Amino acid sequence: MIIVQKYDIAIIGGGVLGTTISYWLSTLYDLKICLIEKEHDVALHSSTRNSGVIHYPFYIDPKKKKNFARAAFLSHDMWKVLANENNIPWVQGGTIEIALDEEQHKTLEKYMVLGKENGLTEEDISILDSNELKQKEPNLNCHSGLYCTKEGSTNYGLLTKAVSELSKKNGTNFLLKHNVKHVEETSKETNIIFSDNSSLTANFVINCAGGNSLDVAKKFRLLKDYSDLHFRGEYWVADSNIANLVKTNIYTVPRYPEFPFLDPHWIKRASGETEIGPNAVPVDSPEAYDSFVTDIPTTLSKITDIVTGSTKKLLLNTDFISLISKEFLSSISKSAMVERVKKFIPAIKPEDFPKRGTAGIRTPVISPEGSFVSEMIEIEGKNSFHIVNYNTPGATGAPAYSAFVVKKLQEKGILKQPKNQKDSIWDFNKIIEQD
Ligand SMILES: Cc1cc2nc3c(=O)[nH]c(=O)nc-3n(C[C@H](O)[C@H](O)[C@H](O)COP(=O)(O)OP(=O)(O)OC[C@H]3O[C@@H](n4cnc5c(N)ncnc54)[C@H](O)[C@@H]3O)c2cc1C
Repeated sequence: MIIVQKYDIAIIGGGVLGTTISYWLSTLYDLKICLIEKEHDVALHSSTRNSGVIHYPFYIDPKKKKNFARAAFLSHDMWKVLANENNIPWVQGGTIEIALDEEQHKTLEKYMVLGKENGLTEEDISILDSNELKQKEPNLNCHSGLYCTKEGSTNYGLLTKAVSELSKKNGTNFLLKHNVKHVEETSKETNIIFSDNSSLTANFVINCAGGNSLDVAKKFRLLKDYSDLHFRGEYWVADSNIANLVKTNIYTVPRYPEFPFLDPHWIKRASGETEIGPNAVPVDSPEAYDSFVTDIPTTLSKITDIVTGSTKKLLLNTDFISLISKEFLSSISKSAMVERVKKFIPAIKPEDFPKRGTAGIRTPVISPEGSFVSEMIEIEGKNSFHIVNYNTPGATGAPAYSAFVVKKLQEKGILKQPKNQKDSIWDFNKIIEQD
């Protein structure tokens, strides 16, 4: 007789989001919880393959991205505590967001206002003119810059791993190498079927499947008019001779704020290395790290999705098409990527970047109207809750945002009010009262 495992809550996806949600649930409740991950370990996709920047929300409009802004603001110190306890690198070297001309400078002034709306103080952010910047970073060439002292770098893969260990200690069952293929919903529970045809049942499912989260939501017959695109972000690692030419993270004001990618940045990694990137090259799947296409069925399925889904409206946007062709060029040609950074660090040359860094893939979601969705999408199914479009700065914001998710499930009556919280590195009540 086959015994089907039964859980109170099953979380699909062992990235930073699913793992932090599992941690909160396991500190607050004595429920039978599992986290389902198709890989042999947690955080093998976006949650490790990212820029590693600890963001602080000076550039996020709280009217459009309230959850991302609030979560990044509150999570900063939460991650810092965990990093210190586990000897995970935490380098608070700051970021300078630069303007190349007067027009872009106006965006920095707007960011000062947004930053204050998000709770940042004058100690956290200030605008520096070109002379002040020359003193701070002599090799940086720009009109002006917004200096955020609280930004820096860490390793979100290691942080996620540390959270998973805490969650395991609380009793969460991490089901690794379990790839969700199908789901069957009844009025009371969900049967989750894996690619090896094994299965389990859960009273409630939380979908945190990152680049696959829209596909997983569609298995629950949700968000059928939405589609997504996958953009590979590639990096080049600077030779140690030039790695300290500029000592701060450098970001530029986005030229196309309606699209969810930026010009390549100058990134100071927590490991001590310096990289430039990421660009945004369209690929056919959330895991196409080394080629443009995965295999014929995946490519055909993505093309069908584009031709029949909401993406096709986006493809009529000429700005978008021109941007994408430049991003393609920067993938094929290292010089093209370096040229973009040379605009603000003129001393660099293509030969200063001898090897590629670790690429990551962003999966922005496109609304039925054909535009990129700015905030994460939260949607409830019959016995499930789905978080889709959980993009940057999602790694920064995960500990606080996952507490907001648990609070929402409590408000909906899906979870009871917890009696108390087990011994925990973070205080649930303190976080949710600031939501
Ligand atoms: C290039 C790049 C740069 C970024 N830079 C930053 C940055 O500097 N700072 C920042 O804060 N954020 C950054 N981000 C964003 C951040 O990395 C993401 O928001 C965050 O990691 C998303 O976490 P997640 O848990 O939702 O997804 P993921 O980490 O992708 O986790 C989803 C998990 O679900 C699993 N899964 C998927 N489908 C299934 C299935 N069918 N069955 C079982 N398991 C499944 C996957 O294997 C994966 O482990 C960046 C992202 C990218 C791609």
